[in-house]
Order: sequence, then C-alpha cells, then structure tokens
Amino acid sequence: MDPKLLDILACPLCKGPLKLADDKSELVCKADALAFPVREGIPVMLETEARSLNVDERLDK
Ligand SMILES: [Zn+2]
Repeated sequence: MDPKLLDILACPLCKGPLKLADDKSELVCKADALAFPVREGIPVMLETEARSLNVDERLDK
C-alpha cells in the first residue's frame, strides 16, 4: 500500500490514526479495538466490515 495513503486514512469512527498490520492485511484502530480489512491493496473503511481485536491484539503495543 502507498505509505502516503496510510497518512490520510483515519478511523471512520473515532477519526484517530490507524496502524497497518504487520502482514499489511488490516488497518488497526487501537482506540476502538477494530481492524479494517485491506482487500487487494484497498482499505475497506466500513465498521460493518471491521473485525474486533482479540485480547492479545488489544494488549499488543
Ligand atoms: Zn477508531
């Protein structure tokens, strides 16, 4: 994914910053404990498509 794209992306819920997952398959909002999928390089910024983080992921810094 284009790093510049990540700069302009914000969480649709809290408008906070997102973190790209290590495998680049998800964009994570720690504040909401949600992970938004990245499909074929396109972030899907929909709450209905987001996955809730599990406990380990929430604790991960
Ligand atoms: Zn958020």
